[in-house]
Amino acid sequence: MTEGRGAAGEILRGVGVSSGIAIGRALVLEGPHVAIFRLDLEGEAPEREVARFQRAVRQAWRQLRRLRDRVTSEAGETYGRVFQAQILILRDRALLEETLALIRRERVNAEWAFRSVVGRYTQVFAQLGDPELRERGTDIEDVEARVQAILTGSKRRHDLGELAEDAIVVSASLSPSDAASLNRARVIGLAIDGGGPASHTAIIASALGIPAVAGLRDASHVLRTGDLLALDGATGVVLRNPTQGEQDVWRERKARLARRDLDLLLLSDQPAVTRDGLRVALRANVQLPEEMAAARRFGAEGVGLFRSEFLRLGGTQEPPDEETQYRAYRDLAEQALPHELAIRTFDLGGEKPAGASLERRETNPALGLRGIRFGLRRPELLRAQARAILRASPHGKVRMMLPMVSGLEELREAQALVESVRRDLAREGVPFEPDVPLGVMIEVPAAALVADRLAREADFLALGTNDLIQYALAIDRGNQSVSYLYEPLHPAVLLLVRRVAEAAAALGRRLSVCGEMASSPPAAVVLIGLGVTELSMTPSTIPAVKMRLDTAAAIKSRVRERLASLSPEAHACAAEELRR
Ligand code: PEP
Ligand code: MG
Repeated sequence: MTEGRGAAGEILRGVGVSSGIAIGRALVLEGPHVAIFRLDLEGEAPEREVARFQRAVRQAWRQLRRLRDRVTSEAGETYGRVFQAQILILRDRALLEETLALIRRERVNAEWAFRSVVGRYTQVFAQLGDPELRERGTDIEDVEARVQAILTGSKRRHDLGELAEDAIVVSASLSPSDAASLNRARVIGLAIDGGGPASHTAIIASALGIPAVAGLRDASHVLRTGDLLALDGATGVVLRNPTQGEQDVWRERKARLARRDLDLLLLSDQPAVTRDGLRVALRANVQLPEEMAAARRFGAEGVGLFRSEFLRLGGTQEPPDEETQYRAYRDLAEQALPHELAIRTFDLGGEKPAGASLERRETNPALGLRGIRFGLRRPELLRAQARAILRASPHGKVRMMLPMVSGLEELREAQALVESVRRDLAREGVPFEPDVPLGVMIEVPAAALVADRLAREADFLALGTNDLIQYALAIDRGNQSVSYLYEPLHPAVLLLVRRVAEAAAALGRRLSVCGEMASSPPAAVVLIGLGVTELSMTPSTIPAVKMRLDTAAAIKSRVRERLASLSPEAHACAAEELRR
């Protein structure tokens, strides 16, 4: 949404999803499908076009080699192989020679000829029954997009890891894996047309400390590469071409925020205790191993949620193999010491596409083959992950938790699988801790409603409020149009949380909350009021939550007030619950 400001430019308003201020030049990303036009060439032009195409292919080949080497050294061979496969496509003689022949025969531009040839190949791949082979078609499209970007001189999202200058990236959308592969030193802000506050892209941006505004609707059309932008990731405002006076005001605010963050950092050594002595554990949500340094800096007591699916970085189709996972978990477990590391098994599907691992596209992925459902459908992947987690267990204090559980059967099936992995490891003489706790995430309302039964059989419970809110209120967490209805303090959500807290307490099971709700100081105090004493959050939000820890009694009374302001019935109902 835009508002005119005369010559000075526009104000764009979206939703702030990762706080902080960024002032810098816009880099507008092309959409995934660039429009290509046919140009009919005269005279010698086709030969020049042939040379231009060959140069572009060589450049793409050099880019891919660099990417392969970088990704292999940073993330391991499994990821590097994705780019190796693309290098091989670029060396495919038939693909290149057919393109050259078409340029010469039809006297057309390279872009058009390459798209026509690639189009024929991808059609063939799309009709193949084997999902692995179908995915090869996606690789070819990806290679095509790279070559087209070089031919047309545009920036692609793949290059986000390789930016040479600071930029505020403006894009219609940004997938979680695009966000995860950003060059953190260069991307100083994100302005995205779609998305909402609980989307994984927003979570990654805030974990990486990159100020971000989502839900801007048409920013990627309105803004141009090179525009000067001032972006506020807390209020969701983006200012295009601010005047010198405005820039000075924004820079001053940025400096003020930096000073406040420093003050908050000083709190990181203090234990999190309410003024009447209730000890609250504040842990970190972590997506990428590099975030461990921030987790320590902000005083996190270990990792309450490691989103392991982000190990599947850089668009690889299959999750990493057991050995790669083992090394990652071992390093994380060691870094988390003396505290715990809670590894959540892959939560693939939903917003986080499962690539070739999924049999077919789903029309409603949030309600589809997601989380533990996917894990149980592909038990060989879950087994490899359980082996890697158990093998890492002697190196730290590891726990394992299952995403998107909706009932007892799924828990029991997963427990049986983990048990058989334990037997295998024991038989093979591989060391592991025999009592690694296996818990369930409560993020489906059905699971919250049967929390007492789940608590009886699981070692611990972890509330995933991002999804719990999405499913309880029927609000797509990534959809900006309905984000005004995404209310963590909705009485229905609080009643579900309360129910889970009671179930855990009755059976003496540990309960944590690791949704974004725990990151918001007012919501965090509400959770404490409901009986939760373990919160896991984006590391940078830990000091602010700590600062708000008043007395437990005061928190409870504030929870009642808050509920009263929502609705009188909810207040009566929740006050009744809180009295117990
Ligand atoms: C949640 O749903 O609250 C959660 C922690 O998991 P994710 O955000 O990864 O879906
Ligand atoms: Mg979830």
